[in-house]
Amino acid sequence: MTMPIKPSFLIDINGVLYADHKPILGAAKMLDLLREKGYSFRLVSNATQACRKTLHEILLGYGLHVREEEIFSAPVATAQYIKRTDKSCGGCFLLTIGDVYTDFLNEGIKLVEKNPAYVAIGDAGAEYTFERMNKAFNMLLDGAGFVTMEKDRYWKSPKGLSLCAGAYTTALEYASGRKATLIGKPSRRFFGLALKDMKAKPKDTVMIGDDLLTDVQGAQKMGMKAYFVKTGKHNMQDVKKFGIKPDKILDSIADLSFDDRK
Ligand SMILES: [Mg+2]
Repeated sequence: MTMPIKPSFLIDINGVLYADHKPILGAAKMLDLLREKGYSFRLVSNATQACRKTLHEILLGYGLHVREEEIFSAPVATAQYIKRTDKSCGGCFLLTIGDVYTDFLNEGIKLVEKNPAYVAIGDAGAEYTFERMNKAFNMLLDGAGFVTMEKDRYWKSPKGLSLCAGAYTTALEYASGRKATLIGKPSRRFFGLALKDMKAKPKDTVMIGDDLLTDVQGAQKMGMKAYFVKTGKHNMQDVKKFGIKPDKILDSIADLSFDDRK
């Protein structure tokens, strides 16, 4: 008799492990349990307002015990992508906020304000000024490469639903007539990187997320199973509205059952 293969897990961060500046009840225990029982997991996040190191510190602060290398964030993936593809080493114009730029410096990418090889856009919040957006627009017209760390329409911030990179990327696409390459979820490139790191196959992997489009639909298109948790930005009305069928619907990550972890 062959033993069933243990699934591996890709776990979204915001809305799954914490939300509204609070850890989700039972999330830390679940991560400890998965580790103790030998399940592989990676945390995959489109969060682009903090670098990986800061993200790691935030998680530790919430009592979520993970290693920094277990976190795959969209800025890190974007920096790695630019490093691989920028043969001219022309550097990058960043439309981001906070300390996200350190993920790029860590990959050895030059950050420039003129004639970049790439324009890279993340969730820049109040930094999406006319001046920055217009600068990016003109660089795109001049032929700079165009990458977006995520293309979500909005996220659930502690102050309520909030616009994020997708809306601004789309504005730049509209104005420039250029199309941005998406690096974060739900791109196959991003999921592929995380799977490769765990040496896991899509069919043996479960994605756990609060975003029906980016997490659930994205993972299912990749051949993974996808569980939807109700602790984040989407709710049961959204499930109906989007017509997406998660493989399971959980009140929270704490409800991942033993069946799921065979
Ligand atoms: Mg989320």
